[in-house]
Amino acid sequence: MARNLDPKCRQCRREGEKLFLKAEKCFTDKCAIERRSYAPGQHGQRSGQRLSGYGEQLREKQKIRRLYGVLERQFRRVYAEAARRRGQTGENLLQLLEGRLDSVAYRMGFGGSRAEARQIVRHNGVLVNGRRVNIPSYLVRPGDVVQLTDGARGTLRARASLEANEARGFSPWVEVDVKAGKGTFKAYPMRDELPPTINEGLVVELYSR
Ligand code: SF4
Repeated sequence: MARNLDPKCRQCRREGEKLFLKAEKCFTDKCAIERRSYAPGQHGQRSGQRLSGYGEQLREKQKIRRLYGVLERQFRRVYAEAARRRGQTGENLLQLLEGRLDSVAYRMGFGGSRAEARQIVRHNGVLVNGRRVNIPSYLVRPGDVVQLTDGARGTLRARASLEANEARGFSPWVEVDVKAGKGTFKAYPMRDELPPTINEGLVVELYSR
């Protein structure tokens, strides 16, 4: 399966904000953004660089792709579905990305990062409504119950991640039973429940060119 192999902290530094790609490290002062919040590379510290409208749109699209760990072709496909649905394309796009099984597993704390949650899904560690699903892009629907298999729930990593997420608080659109390693996807998130730093409108502008 194709995936982005660029170093994770470098991706955050490129986008100039925390994308939370490295589980617990992201919540410590070892986070690369806390230490060096300028872009990577030889010219990373050059200040006053202004992006054109197109550059800004492209940057935002890359940021959202990196945040959700989705490659270009798949992102295009999600966008096409978002545009086909009723309502605002930008909001639909974010809801479809949040509805991916790897995202839902991450929000339920089954993995410390989306990449970790995706690996658990790929390794047959997750059931949806009692049925094994190992496709990270599988679209979870409101009301679906997502749970760890007995084997996956018993791992130290999953337990630590569930506990850390419980301490930080779960996203409002999921309800999680930490002990059972099980959660309900209550609804697609509302726009104001997602980070205000995301500007999905720029992606719509980019793809509408
Ligand atoms: Fe990004 Fe996490 Fe690395 Fe910080 S520690 S730069 S949030 S991946």
